Amino acid sequence: MQCEKALYLNKHHRELKSEVTAAQEAIFDQGTSVGELACQLFPGGVDCTPESYFDFQKAVIRTKEEIEKGTRIIYEAAFQFNGVLAALDILVKHDDGWRAYEVKSSTKVSETYELDATIQYYTIVNSGIDLKDISIIHINNQCVKNGPIDVHQLFTIASVKERVLELLPGIPNKAAFLKKVLQQPNAPLKDIGPHCSDPYQCDFAGHCWKHVPDYSIFNIARLKADKKFELHDKNIMHFKDIPEEFPLNDKQWMQVQSEIRNENFIDSPAIKKFVGDLNYPIYHLDFETFTSAVPIFDGSRPYQQLVFQYSLHIEHEDGRVEHKEYLAETNGEDPRVQFIERLIEDCGQVGDVMVYNIGFERGKLNDLIDFSPLHVRQIQGIIDRLKDLMIPFQQRWYYTPEMQGSYSIKKVLPALVPELSYKNLNIQEGGTASTAFTQMLQGNFEGDIEQVRKDLLAYCELDTLAMVRILAKLKDV
Ligand code: SF4
Repeated sequence: MQCEKALYLNKHHRELKSEVTAAQEAIFDQGTSVGELACQLFPGGVDCTPESYFDFQKAVIRTKEEIEKGTRIIYEAAFQFNGVLAALDILVKHDDGWRAYEVKSSTKVSETYELDATIQYYTIVNSGIDLKDISIIHINNQCVKNGPIDVHQLFTIASVKERVLELLPGIPNKAAFLKKVLQQPNAPLKDIGPHCSDPYQCDFAGHCWKHVPDYSIFNIARLKADKKFELHDKNIMHFKDIPEEFPLNDKQWMQVQSEIRNENFIDSPAIKKFVGDLNYPIYHLDFETFTSAVPIFDGSRPYQQLVFQYSLHIEHEDGRVEHKEYLAETNGEDPRVQFIERLIEDCGQVGDVMVYNIGFERGKLNDLIDFSPLHVRQIQGIIDRLKDLMIPFQQRWYYTPEMQGSYSIKKVLPALVPELSYKNLNIQEGGTASTAFTQMLQGNFEGDIEQVRKDLLAYCELDTLAMVRILAKLKDV
Protein backbone atom coordinates (compact mmCIF):
# COMPACT_ATOMS: atom_id res chain seq x y z
CA MET A 1 0.00 0.00 0.00
CA GLN A 2 3.00 2.29 0.57
CA CYS A 3 4.49 1.93 -2.93
CA GLU A 4 3.63 -0.32 -5.86
CA LYS A 5 7.29 -0.52 -6.85
CA ALA A 6 8.18 -1.91 -3.42
CA LEU A 7 5.50 -4.57 -3.87
CA TYR A 8 6.86 -5.47 -7.31
CA LEU A 9 10.46 -5.67 -6.10
CA ASN A 10 9.42 -7.65 -3.06
CA LYS A 11 7.75 -10.23 -5.31
CA HIS A 12 10.22 -10.36 -8.20
CA HIS A 13 13.54 -8.91 -6.98
CA ARG A 14 13.89 -9.81 -3.37
CA GLU A 15 17.67 -9.80 -3.80
CA LEU A 16 17.58 -5.98 -3.94
CA LYS A 17 16.26 -5.73 -0.38
CA SER A 18 18.56 -4.11 2.18
CA GLU A 19 19.84 -6.44 4.87
CA VAL A 20 17.95 -6.41 8.14
CA THR A 21 19.92 -4.46 10.75
CA ALA A 22 20.43 -5.62 14.34
CA ALA A 23 18.17 -2.76 15.50
CA GLN A 24 15.36 -3.88 13.15
CA GLU A 25 15.88 -7.46 14.31
CA ALA A 26 15.43 -6.32 17.93
CA ILE A 27 12.19 -4.52 16.98
CA PHE A 28 10.88 -7.66 15.24
CA ASP A 29 11.77 -9.79 18.26
CA GLN A 30 9.96 -7.36 20.51
CA GLY A 31 6.90 -7.51 18.23
CA THR A 32 6.93 -11.29 18.44
CA SER A 33 7.07 -11.38 22.23
CA VAL A 34 4.33 -8.73 22.52
CA GLY A 35 2.20 -10.80 20.12
CA GLU A 36 2.73 -13.93 22.20
CA LEU A 37 1.84 -12.11 25.39
CA ALA A 38 -1.35 -10.71 23.84
CA CYS A 39 -2.48 -14.27 23.07
CA GLN A 40 -2.90 -14.65 26.87
CA LEU A 41 -5.91 -12.33 26.56
CA PHE A 42 -7.57 -15.25 24.79
CA PRO A 43 -5.82 -18.33 26.13
CA GLY A 44 -6.06 -21.90 24.90
CA GLY A 45 -6.22 -21.22 21.15
CA VAL A 46 -4.79 -23.16 18.23
CA ASP A 47 -1.73 -21.71 16.48
CA CYS A 48 -1.84 -21.80 12.66
CA THR A 49 1.57 -20.15 12.09
CA PRO A 50 3.10 -21.75 8.99
CA GLU A 51 6.60 -23.27 9.20
CA SER A 52 7.82 -20.82 6.58
CA TYR A 53 6.57 -17.38 5.64
CA PHE A 54 6.66 -18.56 2.02
CA ASP A 55 4.23 -21.36 2.78
CA PHE A 56 1.12 -19.52 3.87
CA GLN A 57 -1.16 -21.76 1.81
CA LYS A 58 -0.82 -24.41 4.51
CA ALA A 59 -1.91 -21.87 7.13
CA VAL A 60 -4.95 -20.92 5.03
CA ILE A 61 -5.99 -24.59 4.76
CA ARG A 62 -5.32 -25.24 8.46
CA THR A 63 -7.35 -22.17 9.49
CA LYS A 64 -10.30 -23.38 7.40
CA GLU A 65 -10.07 -26.84 8.94
CA GLU A 66 -9.97 -25.45 12.49
CA ILE A 67 -13.01 -23.25 11.87
CA GLU A 68 -14.92 -26.21 10.44
CA LYS A 69 -13.89 -28.30 13.44
CA GLY A 70 -15.44 -25.76 15.78
CA THR A 71 -12.22 -24.24 17.19
CA ARG A 72 -13.13 -20.94 18.85
CA ILE A 73 -9.71 -19.26 19.27
CA ILE A 74 -7.14 -19.26 16.45
CA TYR A 75 -3.74 -17.52 16.48
CA GLU A 76 -2.20 -16.46 13.14
CA ALA A 77 -5.40 -17.26 11.30
CA ALA A 78 -4.75 -16.99 7.54
CA PHE A 79 -7.22 -16.22 4.77
CA GLN A 80 -7.03 -15.75 1.04
CA PHE A 81 -9.49 -14.07 -1.26
CA ASN A 82 -9.09 -12.84 -4.82
CA GLY A 83 -5.31 -13.28 -4.66
CA VAL A 84 -4.96 -11.26 -1.45
CA LEU A 85 -3.53 -13.06 1.56
CA ALA A 86 -4.09 -11.85 5.11
CA ALA A 87 -2.81 -13.29 8.38
CA LEU A 88 -4.52 -12.18 11.55
CA ASP A 89 -2.99 -12.41 15.02
CA ILE A 90 -6.07 -13.63 16.90
CA LEU A 91 -9.51 -14.75 15.70
CA VAL A 92 -12.07 -15.48 18.42
CA LYS A 93 -15.60 -16.84 18.26
CA HIS A 94 -17.55 -15.07 21.00
CA ASP A 95 -21.16 -15.92 21.81
CA ASP A 96 -22.38 -13.28 19.33
CA GLY A 97 -19.99 -14.29 16.51
CA TRP A 98 -16.40 -13.94 15.25
CA ARG A 99 -14.15 -11.07 16.24
CA ALA A 100 -10.74 -10.29 14.78
CA TYR A 101 -7.80 -8.89 16.76
CA GLU A 102 -4.52 -7.59 15.38
CA VAL A 103 -1.72 -6.96 17.88
CA LYS A 104 0.63 -3.96 17.58
CA SER A 105 3.57 -3.16 19.87
CA SER A 106 2.76 0.51 19.51
CA THR A 107 0.90 2.60 22.09
CA LYS A 108 -1.89 3.87 19.84
CA VAL A 109 -3.95 3.12 16.75
CA SER A 110 -2.60 4.74 13.60
CA GLU A 111 -4.02 5.30 10.12
CA THR A 112 -1.62 2.61 8.85
CA TYR A 113 -3.01 0.05 11.27
CA GLU A 114 -6.55 0.94 10.23
CA LEU A 115 -5.60 0.30 6.63
CA ASP A 116 -3.96 -3.01 7.59
CA ALA A 117 -7.14 -3.99 9.41
CA THR A 118 -9.23 -3.04 6.37
CA ILE A 119 -7.32 -5.46 4.14
CA GLN A 120 -7.69 -8.16 6.78
CA TYR A 121 -11.41 -7.46 7.08
CA TYR A 122 -11.81 -7.51 3.27
CA THR A 123 -10.06 -10.87 3.00
CA ILE A 124 -11.65 -12.52 6.03
CA VAL A 125 -15.23 -11.43 5.35
CA ASN A 126 -14.99 -12.37 1.67
CA SER A 127 -13.69 -15.80 2.76
CA GLY A 128 -17.09 -16.38 4.33
CA ILE A 129 -16.52 -15.39 7.98
CA ASP A 130 -19.10 -12.97 9.29
CA LEU A 131 -16.96 -10.66 11.45
CA LYS A 132 -18.88 -8.89 14.21
CA ASP A 133 -15.91 -6.65 14.95
CA ILE A 134 -12.25 -6.01 14.20
CA SER A 135 -9.91 -4.44 16.77
CA ILE A 136 -6.33 -3.36 17.26
CA ILE A 137 -4.75 -4.59 20.48
CA HIS A 138 -2.05 -2.12 21.47
CA ILE A 139 0.11 -1.37 24.50
CA ASN A 140 -1.40 0.81 27.22
CA ASN A 141 1.47 3.13 28.10
CA GLN A 142 -0.25 4.31 31.28
CA CYS A 143 0.00 0.86 32.83
CA VAL A 144 2.47 0.80 35.73
CA LYS A 145 3.93 -2.61 36.54
CA ASN A 146 3.19 -3.82 40.02
CA GLY A 147 3.98 -7.51 40.45
CA PRO A 148 3.46 -10.06 37.66
CA ILE A 149 2.33 -8.66 34.30
CA ASP A 150 -1.45 -8.41 34.02
CA VAL A 151 -2.21 -8.60 30.28
CA HIS A 152 -5.61 -6.98 30.83
CA GLN A 153 -3.81 -3.90 32.22
CA LEU A 154 -0.97 -3.98 29.73
CA PHE A 155 -3.11 -4.04 26.58
CA THR A 156 -5.89 -1.85 25.25
CA ILE A 157 -8.39 -3.32 22.79
CA ALA A 158 -9.68 -0.67 20.37
CA SER A 159 -12.35 -1.46 17.81
CA VAL A 160 -11.56 -0.01 14.38
CA LYS A 161 -14.58 -1.43 12.57
CA GLU A 162 -16.18 1.95 11.90
CA ARG A 163 -13.05 3.28 10.16
CA VAL A 164 -12.54 -0.05 8.36
CA LEU A 165 -16.02 0.19 6.84
CA GLU A 166 -15.17 3.70 5.59
CA LEU A 167 -11.92 2.52 3.97
CA LEU A 168 -13.31 -0.76 2.64
CA PRO A 169 -14.80 0.53 -0.68
CA GLY A 170 -11.30 1.57 -1.83
CA ILE A 171 -9.76 -1.89 -1.41
CA PRO A 172 -11.05 -3.83 -4.49
CA ASN A 173 -9.72 -1.21 -6.95
CA LYS A 174 -6.42 -0.92 -5.13
CA ALA A 175 -6.04 -4.72 -5.07
CA ALA A 176 -6.85 -4.92 -8.81
CA PHE A 177 -4.29 -2.17 -9.58
CA LEU A 178 -1.56 -3.84 -7.51
CA LYS A 179 -2.21 -7.24 -9.08
CA LYS A 180 -1.84 -5.67 -12.53
CA VAL A 181 1.46 -4.09 -11.44
CA LEU A 182 2.75 -7.51 -10.40
CA GLN A 183 2.00 -8.98 -13.80
CA GLN A 184 4.08 -6.40 -15.69
CA PRO A 185 7.42 -7.51 -17.11
CA ASN A 186 9.32 -4.66 -15.42
CA ALA A 187 9.18 -2.75 -12.16
CA PRO A 188 6.93 0.35 -12.29
CA LEU A 189 8.71 3.65 -13.01
CA LYS A 190 8.03 5.12 -9.60
CA ASP A 191 10.37 7.91 -8.51
CA ILE A 192 11.62 8.28 -4.95
CA GLY A 193 9.53 10.55 -2.71
CA PRO A 194 8.30 11.08 0.84
CA HIS A 195 6.55 7.70 0.53
CA CYS A 196 9.99 5.99 0.78
CA SER A 197 9.99 6.47 4.53
CA ASP A 198 6.33 7.04 5.34
CA PRO A 199 4.91 5.18 7.17
CA TYR A 200 7.92 2.82 7.12
CA GLN A 201 11.51 3.06 5.91
CA CYS A 202 11.36 1.07 2.66
CA ASP A 203 13.55 -2.03 2.39
CA PHE A 204 14.49 -1.11 -1.20
CA ALA A 205 15.88 2.36 -0.47
CA GLY A 206 19.42 1.07 -1.06
CA HIS A 207 18.36 0.26 -4.61
CA CYS A 208 16.11 3.21 -5.53
CA TRP A 209 18.23 5.88 -3.81
CA LYS A 210 21.60 4.88 -5.19
CA HIS A 211 21.73 7.93 -7.50
CA VAL A 212 21.60 10.21 -4.42
CA PRO A 213 25.08 11.18 -3.12
CA ASP A 214 25.99 10.33 0.50
CA TYR A 215 25.84 14.02 1.40
CA SER A 216 23.21 15.87 -0.60
CA ILE A 217 20.28 18.28 -0.38
CA PHE A 218 18.52 15.51 1.55
CA ASN A 219 20.89 16.25 4.45
CA ILE A 220 19.93 19.92 4.81
CA ALA A 221 19.00 20.21 8.47
CA ARG A 222 15.32 20.73 9.27
CA LEU A 223 14.29 21.18 5.64
CA LYS A 224 10.83 19.71 5.08
CA ALA A 225 10.57 16.62 2.87
CA ASP A 226 8.40 18.37 0.25
CA LYS A 227 11.11 21.06 -0.19
CA LYS A 228 13.83 18.43 -0.54
CA PHE A 229 11.84 16.62 -3.21
CA GLU A 230 11.09 19.92 -4.94
CA LEU A 231 14.87 20.24 -5.45
CA HIS A 232 15.31 16.56 -6.31
CA ASP A 233 12.55 16.70 -8.89
CA LYS A 234 14.44 19.55 -10.60
CA ASN A 235 17.49 17.27 -10.65
CA ILE A 236 19.25 19.34 -7.98
CA MET A 237 21.20 17.07 -5.69
CA HIS A 238 24.35 19.02 -4.80
CA PHE A 239 24.49 22.14 -2.64
CA LYS A 240 26.24 24.16 -5.33
CA ASP A 241 23.22 23.81 -7.64
CA ILE A 242 20.64 25.22 -5.19
CA PRO A 243 19.19 28.43 -6.71
CA GLU A 244 19.82 31.57 -4.65
CA GLU A 245 16.11 32.31 -4.38
CA PHE A 246 15.33 28.90 -2.86
CA PRO A 247 13.68 29.43 0.55
CA LEU A 248 16.19 28.29 3.18
CA ASN A 249 16.57 29.82 6.64
CA ASP A 250 19.85 31.35 7.90
CA LYS A 251 21.11 28.15 9.52
CA GLN A 252 20.36 26.14 6.40
CA TRP A 253 22.21 28.67 4.21
CA MET A 254 25.12 28.49 6.63
CA GLN A 255 25.25 24.72 6.13
CA VAL A 256 25.11 25.13 2.34
CA GLN A 257 27.71 27.93 2.16
CA SER A 258 30.05 26.19 4.58
CA GLU A 259 30.02 23.09 2.38
CA ILE A 260 30.46 24.96 -0.91
CA ARG A 261 33.30 27.15 0.38
CA ASN A 262 34.73 24.56 2.77
CA GLU A 263 34.55 27.21 5.48
CA ASN A 264 34.13 27.16 9.28
CA PHE A 265 31.78 29.58 11.03
CA ILE A 266 32.85 30.56 14.53
CA ASP A 267 31.12 33.11 16.75
CA SER A 268 33.99 33.81 19.17
CA PRO A 269 32.18 36.25 21.53
CA ALA A 270 29.29 33.82 22.04
CA ILE A 271 31.70 30.95 22.73
CA LYS A 272 33.78 33.10 25.04
CA LYS A 273 30.69 33.92 27.08
CA PHE A 274 29.64 30.25 27.23
CA VAL A 275 33.10 29.13 28.42
CA GLY A 276 33.44 32.10 30.80
CA ASP A 277 30.19 31.21 32.56
CA LEU A 278 31.35 27.71 33.53
CA ASN A 279 31.93 26.75 37.16
CA TYR A 280 34.67 24.26 38.08
CA PRO A 281 34.98 21.38 38.69
CA ILE A 282 33.00 20.46 35.61
CA TYR A 283 31.26 17.07 35.83
CA HIS A 284 30.86 15.79 32.26
CA LEU A 285 28.00 13.34 32.55
CA ASP A 286 26.26 10.96 30.16
CA PHE A 287 23.46 8.43 30.78
CA GLU A 288 22.56 5.28 28.90
CA THR A 289 19.02 4.00 29.08
CA PHE A 290 17.07 0.94 28.04
CA THR A 291 13.44 0.54 27.24
CA SER A 292 11.06 -2.33 26.83
CA ALA A 293 7.51 -2.62 25.51
CA VAL A 294 6.66 -4.88 28.45
CA PRO A 295 7.92 -3.25 31.67
CA ILE A 296 10.53 -5.34 33.47
CA PHE A 297 10.67 -3.59 36.84
CA ASP A 298 7.92 -2.63 39.27
CA GLY A 299 7.06 1.05 39.19
CA SER A 300 7.86 1.44 35.49
CA ARG A 301 5.66 1.88 32.43
CA PRO A 302 5.83 0.35 28.93
CA TYR A 303 8.55 2.03 26.85
CA GLN A 304 9.75 4.12 29.79
CA GLN A 305 13.46 4.80 29.36
CA LEU A 306 15.23 3.57 32.47
CA VAL A 307 18.82 4.52 33.29
CA PHE A 308 21.33 1.70 33.67
CA GLN A 309 24.72 3.31 33.12
CA TYR A 310 26.60 6.57 33.38
CA SER A 311 30.05 7.88 32.68
CA LEU A 312 31.46 10.90 34.46
CA HIS A 313 34.64 12.80 33.66
CA ILE A 314 35.46 15.36 36.34
CA GLU A 315 37.50 18.25 34.97
CA HIS A 316 39.26 20.40 37.56
CA GLU A 317 40.30 23.99 36.98
CA ASP A 318 44.00 23.04 37.10
CA GLY A 319 43.47 20.65 34.15
CA ARG A 320 43.31 17.38 36.12
CA VAL A 321 40.66 14.96 34.85
CA GLU A 322 39.22 12.02 36.83
CA HIS A 323 36.89 9.34 35.52
CA LYS A 324 34.03 7.58 37.33
CA GLU A 325 31.41 5.24 35.97
CA TYR A 326 28.53 2.98 36.82
CA LEU A 327 27.07 0.03 34.93
CA ALA A 328 24.18 -1.85 36.52
CA GLU A 329 24.32 -5.57 37.11
CA THR A 330 21.75 -7.69 35.27
CA ASN A 331 20.87 -9.80 38.30
CA GLY A 332 17.18 -8.95 38.50
CA GLU A 333 17.63 -5.93 40.76
CA ASP A 334 16.19 -2.61 39.55
CA PRO A 335 19.22 -0.75 38.11
CA ARG A 336 17.89 2.61 39.30
CA VAL A 337 18.41 1.83 42.99
CA GLN A 338 22.23 1.64 42.88
CA PHE A 339 22.43 4.17 40.04
CA ILE A 340 20.92 6.93 42.20
CA GLU A 341 23.19 6.29 45.17
CA ARG A 342 26.37 6.13 43.10
CA LEU A 343 25.45 9.17 41.02
CA ILE A 344 24.75 11.34 44.06
CA GLU A 345 28.07 10.29 45.59
CA ASP A 346 30.08 10.81 42.38
CA CYS A 347 28.58 14.18 41.41
CA GLY A 348 29.80 16.01 44.54
CA GLN A 349 28.18 19.23 45.68
CA VAL A 350 29.62 22.06 43.61
CA GLY A 351 30.54 22.73 39.99
CA ASP A 352 28.60 22.48 36.76
CA VAL A 353 27.20 19.16 35.62
CA MET A 354 27.76 19.22 31.87
CA VAL A 355 25.60 17.07 29.61
CA TYR A 356 25.08 16.94 25.87
CA ASN A 357 21.38 17.57 25.19
CA ILE A 358 20.06 18.72 28.55
CA GLY A 359 16.44 17.66 27.92
CA PHE A 360 17.40 14.00 28.01
CA GLU A 361 19.42 13.87 31.25
CA ARG A 362 17.08 16.34 33.01
CA GLY A 363 14.09 14.18 32.05
CA LYS A 364 15.75 11.03 33.39
CA LEU A 365 16.76 12.79 36.63
CA ASN A 366 13.17 13.95 37.14
CA ASP A 367 12.01 10.36 36.58
CA LEU A 368 14.46 9.28 39.29
CA ILE A 369 12.87 11.76 41.71
CA ASP A 370 9.48 10.13 41.01
CA PHE A 371 11.04 6.72 41.52
CA SER A 372 12.86 7.60 44.71
CA PRO A 373 11.27 10.66 46.40
CA LEU A 374 13.62 10.16 49.38
CA HIS A 375 16.45 11.47 47.20
CA VAL A 376 14.57 14.51 45.88
CA ARG A 377 16.93 17.07 47.45
CA GLN A 378 20.13 15.50 46.15
CA ILE A 379 18.79 14.79 42.65
CA GLN A 380 17.27 18.26 42.38
CA GLY A 381 20.69 19.61 43.38
CA ILE A 382 22.22 17.86 40.34
CA ILE A 383 19.42 19.13 38.06
CA ASP A 384 20.07 22.70 39.24
CA ARG A 385 23.75 22.39 38.23
CA LEU A 386 23.09 21.12 34.67
CA LYS A 387 24.65 22.91 31.69
CA ASP A 388 24.35 21.87 28.04
CA LEU A 389 27.44 21.50 25.86
CA MET A 390 25.21 21.06 22.80
CA ILE A 391 24.16 24.73 22.83
CA PRO A 392 27.20 26.19 21.00
CA PHE A 393 26.65 23.71 18.18
CA GLN A 394 22.87 23.84 18.16
CA GLN A 395 23.07 27.65 17.99
CA ARG A 396 25.72 27.33 15.24
CA TRP A 397 28.25 29.37 17.25
CA TYR A 398 30.71 26.77 16.00
CA TYR A 399 30.04 25.11 12.68
CA THR A 400 32.31 23.24 10.28
CA PRO A 401 31.42 21.49 7.00
CA GLU A 402 32.23 18.09 8.58
CA MET A 403 29.24 18.48 10.92
CA GLN A 404 26.98 18.11 7.87
CA GLY A 405 24.17 20.16 9.35
CA SER A 406 24.03 18.11 12.55
CA TYR A 407 24.85 19.08 16.14
CA SER A 408 24.80 15.51 17.40
CA ILE A 409 27.94 14.60 19.36
CA LYS A 410 28.53 11.81 16.82
CA LYS A 411 29.09 14.49 14.14
CA VAL A 412 30.62 17.21 16.32
CA LEU A 413 33.37 14.97 17.76
CA PRO A 414 34.97 13.87 14.44
CA ALA A 415 34.72 17.48 13.21
CA LEU A 416 36.54 18.93 16.23
CA VAL A 417 38.61 16.06 17.58
CA PRO A 418 39.22 13.72 14.61
CA GLU A 419 41.81 11.68 16.53
CA LEU A 420 39.12 10.51 18.97
CA SER A 421 36.67 8.18 17.25
CA TYR A 422 33.86 5.75 17.92
CA LYS A 423 34.91 3.74 14.87
CA ASN A 424 37.19 1.33 16.74
CA LEU A 425 34.62 0.50 19.41
CA ASN A 426 32.48 -2.64 19.34
CA ILE A 427 29.52 -0.53 20.49
CA GLN A 428 29.30 2.75 18.58
CA GLU A 429 25.89 4.16 19.38
CA GLY A 430 23.30 4.30 22.15
CA GLY A 431 20.76 2.07 20.40
CA THR A 432 23.16 -0.89 20.33
CA ALA A 433 24.10 -0.29 23.98
CA SER A 434 20.44 -0.24 24.97
CA THR A 435 19.58 -3.40 23.00
CA ALA A 436 22.53 -5.32 24.47
CA PHE A 437 21.60 -4.37 28.04
CA THR A 438 17.90 -5.20 27.53
CA GLN A 439 18.81 -8.61 26.11
CA MET A 440 21.06 -9.29 29.12
CA LEU A 441 18.22 -8.34 31.46
CA GLN A 442 15.78 -10.59 29.64
CA GLY A 443 18.29 -13.44 29.61
CA ASN A 444 18.35 -13.74 25.81
CA PHE A 445 21.73 -12.11 25.09
CA GLU A 446 23.69 -14.46 22.87
CA GLY A 447 27.24 -13.02 23.05
CA ASP A 448 30.03 -12.89 25.65
CA ILE A 449 28.56 -11.02 28.65
CA GLU A 450 31.93 -10.07 30.13
CA GLN A 451 33.05 -8.64 26.80
CA VAL A 452 29.85 -6.71 26.18
CA ARG A 453 30.06 -5.12 29.63
CA LYS A 454 33.56 -3.91 28.75
CA ASP A 455 32.20 -2.62 25.41
CA LEU A 456 29.39 -0.76 27.18
CA LEU A 457 31.85 0.89 29.58
CA ALA A 458 34.20 1.85 26.74
CA TYR A 459 31.36 3.36 24.71
CA CYS A 460 29.91 5.47 27.51
CA GLU A 461 33.37 6.57 28.64
CA LEU A 462 34.13 7.88 25.16
CA ASP A 463 30.92 9.94 25.23
CA THR A 464 32.09 11.96 28.24
CA LEU A 465 35.77 12.03 27.21
CA ALA A 466 34.50 13.47 23.93
CA MET A 467 32.78 16.22 25.92
CA VAL A 468 36.00 17.09 27.76
CA ARG A 469 37.88 17.35 24.47
CA ILE A 470 35.12 19.28 22.70
CA LEU A 471 35.02 21.77 25.55
CA ALA A 472 38.81 22.10 25.27
CA LYS A 473 38.35 23.10 21.61
CA LEU A 474 35.82 25.72 22.62
CA LYS A 475 38.26 27.05 25.22
CA ASP A 476 40.93 27.33 22.50
CA VAL A 477 38.57 29.62 20.57
S1 SF4 B 1 12.57 3.14 -2.10
FE1 SF4 B 1 10.78 4.42 -2.48
S2 SF4 B 1 10.40 4.28 -4.66
FE2 SF4 B 1 11.76 2.58 -4.13
S3 SF4 B 1 10.43 0.89 -3.77
FE3 SF4 B 1 10.78 1.84 -1.83
S4 SF4 B 1 9.13 3.31 -1.52
FE4 SF4 B 1 9.14 2.71 -3.69
